[in-house]
Amino acid sequence: MLKLFTNNPINRHKKTLISINKEYENLKKYSNTQLEKQTEVLRLKLLNNNLDTNTILIEAFATIKEAIFRALHLTLFDVQILGGIILNQNNIAEMKTGEGKTLVALLPAYLNCLTGEGVHIITVNDYLAERDSSLAKKVFSYVNIKVGLVTQKTNPNQKKNEYNSNITYITNSELGFDYLKDNMTIHKNNIVQRNFYYAIIDEVDSILIDEARTPLIISGITEIKNQPYLEANKISNLLSNKIHYKIDEKSKSIILTDQGISQCEEILKIKNLYDTQNHWIKYILNALKAKELFLKNKDYITKNNQVIIVDEFTGRIMDGRRWSDGLHQSIEAKENIKIEAENKTLASITYQNLFLLYNKLAGMTGTAKTEENEFLNIYKMNVVNIPTNKKCIRKDLSDLVYKDEYNKWQSIANECLDMYNMKRPTLIGTTSIQKSELLSDMLKEMKVPHSLLNAKPENVSKEAEIILQAGQKGSITISTNMAGRGTDIILGGNPEKTTELTIEKLGSESKNKYVNNNNIKDILSEDEIKYLQNKNKLQNNIKTSLRYISKIKNIEAKLRTKYTNLFKKEKEEILKLGGLYVIGTERHESRRIDNQLRGRAGRQGDQGTSRFFLSLQDNLFRIFGGNNIEKLVTKLNIDDAIPIESILLTKSLNSAQKKVEAYFYDIRKQLYEYDDVIHNQRKAIYNERKKILNATFTRDCILEYAEYTIEEMLTIYIKTNKENNTLKQIIKLLNIKNNTQNLSTMNFNEIKYYLNEQLRISYDLKEIYLEQLRPGLIRQLEKYYLLQQIDQAWQEHIEKMNLLKEYIGWRSYGQQDPLIEYKNEAFHLFINMIIYIRQTVVYLIMRSRLIVDV
Ligand code: ADP
Ligand code: MG
Repeated sequence: MLKLFTNNPINRHKKTLISINKEYENLKKYSNTQLEKQTEVLRLKLLNNNLDTNTILIEAFATIKEAIFRALHLTLFDVQILGGIILNQNNIAEMKTGEGKTLVALLPAYLNCLTGEGVHIITVNDYLAERDSSLAKKVFSYVNIKVGLVTQKTNPNQKKNEYNSNITYITNSELGFDYLKDNMTIHKNNIVQRNFYYAIIDEVDSILIDEARTPLIISGITEIKNQPYLEANKISNLLSNKIHYKIDEKSKSIILTDQGISQCEEILKIKNLYDTQNHWIKYILNALKAKELFLKNKDYITKNNQVIIVDEFTGRIMDGRRWSDGLHQSIEAKENIKIEAENKTLASITYQNLFLLYNKLAGMTGTAKTEENEFLNIYKMNVVNIPTNKKCIRKDLSDLVYKDEYNKWQSIANECLDMYNMKRPTLIGTTSIQKSELLSDMLKEMKVPHSLLNAKPENVSKEAEIILQAGQKGSITISTNMAGRGTDIILGGNPEKTTELTIEKLGSESKNKYVNNNNIKDILSEDEIKYLQNKNKLQNNIKTSLRYISKIKNIEAKLRTKYTNLFKKEKEEILKLGGLYVIGTERHESRRIDNQLRGRAGRQGDQGTSRFFLSLQDNLFRIFGGNNIEKLVTKLNIDDAIPIESILLTKSLNSAQKKVEAYFYDIRKQLYEYDDVIHNQRKAIYNERKKILNATFTRDCILEYAEYTIEEMLTIYIKTNKENNTLKQIIKLLNIKNNTQNLSTMNFNEIKYYLNEQLRISYDLKEIYLEQLRPGLIRQLEKYYLLQQIDQAWQEHIEKMNLLKEYIGWRSYGQQDPLIEYKNEAFHLFINMIIYIRQTVVYLIMRSRLIVDV
């Protein structure tokens, strides 16, 4: 009991909370102008305190609490302030849906932007970035803080400006792509981001866990290489299973035996199949996979001369999707149909490493505690559970397990019908679009009106609208699980948003339908409806526009009052029915996602219920359940239509789910560990690039590259007992003409000194020559060659690293950890790339000439 007491973060920060609220009372007396001046006052104070944000935390938080009150007429709860404190400490604040996290983020965002650095608030989609930034703009207009917004729609010319704001709202993917693009540009004016100082990630589990399994990739199409695929296909037919290779069905992989390796090397007439310079191993293994593991009409079909993937679990045809890393091409070769071009990775980064670029990182979500270890291990963030403002009284009922899927869906549909008849709002979460459509069809047959939501990006703003209505009397809403993140379901309805929507809809094309469907005539007079319907015309007429604005404001207020009263009454009725009812139709790959679905009900102390309907044919049971469960059920021997409620069953279910969680965590961890190797290289290359982009005098860089090259090649020269060829090569590479000295009698330092001197003389001459022809040209040439060679070499390096990662898994290393082997080889590849970049840059610049058209 005592432990519980001291662990409560409310108690730990009680003093700070009291001080903030005291200061807040004090600020209430301030005029708007005085409040606005707070920003300057606090900035100065921060400067005098070595930019230690803790010294002004109390005043800054109080200032925003007051700004929120003035802008939105809402008073922040203590738990919200507490959430802000946690976010400022680089941790994750776990706060349930509907607790008001959007406003929580404003507190630490304000505090940290006072340092002069930019603060980023990251959302999962453009809709939320827009919605939250416009709310933030209202609040921050009281304290003279500029709020920026970057979405897919943002004009590239405008982006820099948005990033330069004090606080910028942006989605995770836009942030990542801008980062990669900034590091690919050849003009420094095109760089849009400034540094990575402090990020607050909303729905942090969705971004750092769910999306962390696949990296962000910018890719380009390469030329089509038919030959190796066709050749490898032929070879694969000459090799036999168990003699030349072994098949591992579980992990869908193939390993060549020693005999297989030498057979391939013989046929191809090459020395080493695993040489990273030639890519044969990749083609051969893909061809073998195509031969043995990917079967026509099971894993894919061929239609109109195309190979089309069939989804493993659902059997659905996945038009337009392609297997990566050349596998799709290998199957095309096997089927003897046209081989499509490969995609080439130009740049890529994982979310893990992207967000680790920040000095300070914080996150908020309703569900993080179950993944606490991962957040700590990878991101060094603690998950702190913030108590809800009002006690949560939601009832989580125990699972109902049916023998088969048919009976499960049947009883879910019946449950929906019952709820519809009693007018209790119900939300049904499904795991795929296909299943949501199945239920929708069943409900249509039963004549149960409902809304259907799925996670397609183009539906996101419509999603918000459907979620808005999901808490109204009699609403039945089917939603795939990731849909509607960030919008909460309010019982009865949201008067503010419904008012906005009504005004918008009445000005749109289908306005008459909207009036009839939504009982608008009971709320507004005929005259008022007409007014709203013509608002676009009226708005454009300058003479009437002033009068128009005040009239619209009146109608708005009227609507808001009406809706507020209406929804309040409705909410009371719904609470009597038990509040929102959430139905889960399958356990997910982690408890976290189950919790998220349940958390839709019972917000802000409301009544609510959740229940999962499961079947023994669900993926989780089938794949990870083992046969204990089957046995158990056969033993129980009960009617198919009657669900089983058994503690034993729930236990094995939970352990199956934990197995899945661990499985996916391993995948993410592995991706992270491997990407971490390339991440350090990426940082080095991007830094070098940035240095060159920002330099005005690149001559030093060229000379430095040349001197390194001289040193490296001389080392080889000495090592190989002064083999003369190397010296010739150096002289040729540097394009130094006179060679009167007898270098072979000199020692290492003497030659080095001589060559460095010759290099400078030669470069000075070149510079004078070019400068005469066109002033400034040499600097442009230098920059061009440097960037071009770095980019080209880096892209080739990425490809080699991809390949390396693949075949590290193919080769067996006895006792050795493949990750260590990967690190070693990656290091060698990187060093070679750097040497190569220096040499080619020097070679090219030493040979540059100007051909002048006359
Ligand atoms: P979350 O992101 O935690 O799910 P939101 O930020 O979307 O929650 O807020 C949910 C609702 O709660 C919004 O309608 C918001 O206006 C309201 N809200 C937030 N803070 C307060 C507050 N202090 N008092 C009253 N309502 C609030
Ligand atoms: Mg939110």
